[in-house]
Amino acid sequence: MTELIRVDGLTKSFGDNHVLRGIDFQVDAGSATAVIGPSGSGKTTLLRSLNALDVPDAGVVTVADATIDFGGVYSKADLTRYRAQSGFVFQNHNLFPHKTVLQNIIEGPVVVQKRPVAEATDDARRLLDSVGLLGRADDYPGQLSGGQQQRVGIVRAVALNPRVLLLDEPTSALDPELVGEVLRVIRDLADQGWTMVVVTHEITFARQVSDQVLFVDGGVIVEHGAPDQVIGAPRHERTATFLRRLT
Ligand code: ADP
Repeated sequence: MTELIRVDGLTKSFGDNHVLRGIDFQVDAGSATAVIGPSGSGKTTLLRSLNALDVPDAGVVTVADATIDFGGVYSKADLTRYRAQSGFVFQNHNLFPHKTVLQNIIEGPVVVQKRPVAEATDDARRLLDSVGLLGRADDYPGQLSGGQQQRVGIVRAVALNPRVLLLDEPTSALDPELVGEVLRVIRDLADQGWTMVVVTHEITFARQVSDQVLFVDGGVIVEHGAPDQVIGAPRHERTATFLRRLT
């Protein structure tokens, strides 16, 4: 298996708050990794570190073709290249409210990647079709349901054709009846072979879709492994306690 992400000794503090205290893990190309753990344990900060939305204090991180030693010297160009390796899906989709669905999707490919508008538009329409939203291309985000907005948020990340997809609690802002349609889209992407890291509270989904689960607590990975092991037969009491509280 080719390793697409490698994290060694990642740390991050916000002031006196030592949020990530030494994180190490790897992600194989084409695999799905679920990050689970209690609220406030550092899951989102960990994910944001992989796109430098939060810039780590230390640690050597490789994401596809970019490696940065965050404790050492690196340039703005290094950071730009690192960021370009991954696409980020936010909990609240972060769509521009004054742009149509289509405009939201082609913005990155056209403005950042300098791709021709016609080509980016064709791709965007094909992707929208694949998530059942081709008919909504000219609508504004506010005209869509939360689940539809999040599906557009996912398409927007995919349209950049990144090497890795990072999804931060993609269903936690949704009404329960809308969760399924978004999880289906993520499952389809995993089936298509996308390399992804998903922070999620959906434990059943994590167990069914991921190849690897990281259980994070107190800024460290307490336990990691195959979902049937970590979720089905946790080795650590902290993992077992967390999972018991969910049921
Ligand atoms: P989780 O995703 O597991 O709920 P987070 O990574 O969101 O955890 O947060 C971990 C800790 O980091 C929390 O104590 C949170 O308050 C703090 N934190 C996260 N982002 C920031 C920030 N931008 N500034 C200050 N503190 C932050």
